[in-house]
Amino acid sequence: MFTKILIANRGEIACRIIKTAKRMGIATVAVYSDADANALHVTLADEAVHIGGSAATDSYLLSERVIEAAQQTGAQAVHPGYGFLSENPEFAEKLVKAGLVFIGPSADAIRKMGLKDQAKHLMEEAGVPVVPGYHGVEQGACFLADEAAKIGYPVLIKARAGGGGKGMRLVEKADDFKAALGSAQREGKASFGDAHVLIEKYITAPRHIEVQVFGDSHGNIVHLFERDCSLQRRHQKVIEEAPAPDMPTDVRAAMTMAATRAAAEINYEGAGTIEFIVDGSGPLHTDGFWFMEMNTRLQVEHPVTEAITGQDLVEWQLRVAAGEPLPVLQDQLVINGHAFEARIYAEDPQNDFMPAPGTLSDVRFGAGCRVDTGVQTGDKVSPFYDPMIAKLISHEATRNDALTRLRQGLNETICTGTQTNLTFLARLCADEDFSQGRLDTGLIGRKGDCLMQSTTPSPFAVLVGALLANGIDPQQERLGWQLWGKTQQALGLSGINGSLQFEGDCRFTLILEDGAHVFEGVTYHNGQVSALSGIKNLIALVSHTGNSVMVKQDGEQFDFHAVDPLDVSATEGGNADCVFAPMTGIVSIVHVASGDTVQKGDALLVLEAMKMEHVMLAPRDGVIADVMCKASSAVDEGNQLVVLQEVAE
Ligand code: ADP
Ligand code: ADP
Ligand code: MG
Repeated sequence: MFTKILIANRGEIACRIIKTAKRMGIATVAVYSDADANALHVTLADEAVHIGGSAATDSYLLSERVIEAAQQTGAQAVHPGYGFLSENPEFAEKLVKAGLVFIGPSADAIRKMGLKDQAKHLMEEAGVPVVPGYHGVEQGACFLADEAAKIGYPVLIKARAGGGGKGMRLVEKADDFKAALGSAQREGKASFGDAHVLIEKYITAPRHIEVQVFGDSHGNIVHLFERDCSLQRRHQKVIEEAPAPDMPTDVRAAMTMAATRAAAEINYEGAGTIEFIVDGSGPLHTDGFWFMEMNTRLQVEHPVTEAITGQDLVEWQLRVAAGEPLPVLQDQLVINGHAFEARIYAEDPQNDFMPAPGTLSDVRFGAGCRVDTGVQTGDKVSPFYDPMIAKLISHEATRNDALTRLRQGLNETICTGTQTNLTFLARLCADEDFSQGRLDTGLIGRKGDCLMQSTTPSPFAVLVGALLANGIDPQQERLGWQLWGKTQQALGLSGINGSLQFEGDCRFTLILEDGAHVFEGVTYHNGQVSALSGIKNLIALVSHTGNSVMVKQDGEQFDFHAVDPLDVSATEGGNADCVFAPMTGIVSIVHVASGDTVQKGDALLVLEAMKMEHVMLAPRDGVIADVMCKASSAVDEGNQLVVLQEVAE
């Protein structure tokens, strides 16, 4: 076995790999960029080497720098994690040439599966069912439009080099084909340096079910059952689970057999995932699944497989890379219970899930779940990388219990300092269809509004906000109230009208527009406020900074700010006339010019940021007064992009 390995990655996956290496007595070397100088993975590793600037292209993607770092520290092998260099065959080759071990498959296997079109040809030959479509070389727009028509709408355009849901466009009708094609090609080019696309029949009511496979250098290949990753938003996984709900034994047998056949076809070594798109319009059936792609690396959602099989997949990767045979054989692998994983991101569900970089002022994870994270309180979520904060993984005997556990874990997790998708995830866990195991990749899209809507805070949340934002400790209320010199006072919360009355003995009456609400036994202890309302026990988690309080109750999260009487209203000024850049990026297309008439929701321009295209929409009906950017100009967060003419009263 190796005595020292280098981890060519960052964030949660680097930390997760270090954990297993430590347990196995293997020394670890971290690499880091400028932005990550104080990151958790750097602290956890035994040694750390600075490899360059903050942008991934100046650090984590520089294979030469990574190899130098390994040589300089005497590491024998390199674990690439996921993303970055993990599916880069040249990197795997260069490592081997430098006398180092790549903890992953051969460059040849990566290459064969690297491009989706090629992989599909190969799988077709191996007798694995593939999604019908066009995956040839001809790339003319008219030719592709004809192919799409032949396949029959709806179709999916995919960048052949794509990953992480990028470079993919669903097209419902022929009229929309060319615009979608251009957009997919641009995103493919920008993200992967390859504009080449393929076209697939869009499977309706699809489920995404994937099989974890593992091979060693002794010719053994096993599968570790399936994961269901159907809960997706824009083709990106949100919550994953294992095993797949309502998976019939014969379908599992057929899918795992197809997956191991696919892996055997390329003499696969190490961890890999065969992704299938599955007909989810009714019960699963043996001729209702098709190969989509193979990911030749460890997958983000591998922990759910670890949970139900009791295996450590990183340990397997290390053993296989060191030349050992697989630790167990197929018949020693069984499914135990059910597991879920939720991906917690710094993003704003109410603003089209825009990444929300920032400094995490308070991070606390709920109990009872496995937590894989790369950050702690005080760390920055940097705009340079994927904004994932953590993964929460629950494992229980039944699906119901595991889902309940996940929901509790999310409800008890606090993460302040930036917007997160925590509330969105908690609501998803409570969704009736999802709870019943009725899922497909369109579920989130259909329920979108209620999953993302902002809700009005409960009276209890308002009480907690009013007390804490104004520095009132409910147990010390007598003192506080005497200082205020009255028993009833205005709430003192910005944006909320009402008053608060202290009745003595930890009892408060909150008077809001809808009436009076009485709370008894109000106590504040360990970051938690509890109270009794009638016969109902209420609990809220709080995170307090200065005059702001984040209150979390039943998974719903509210921010309150104390009113500052000296603060002259700063929000005047009618922003609905202006469209600002929500983040730093590059304007790729401008659809409007001054003088144009637009309607609310019309596309004004396309901003490319964090390798994604964001379409900026008109905030209201009106006439364009000015366009303050042009195609390919770089813009900073907060820059004015488009101004609408004022509307005469
Ligand atoms: P998984 O199924 O493991 O979630 P994804 O396809 O979602 O796989 O990708 C996992 C991570 O790797 C994501 O953070 C994604 O942004 C990144 N990623 C995936 N493919 C690529 C690629 N070709 N180049 C760069 N990053 C990628
Ligand atoms: P990526 O490399 O970005 O992960 P995939 O080919 O794995 O790309 O597809 C990502 C997601 O897009 C799938 O999980 C699925 O939800 C959806 N998808 C892909 N192909 C199809 C298809 N032919 N029909 C319906 N949905 C699809
Ligand atoms: Mg995929």
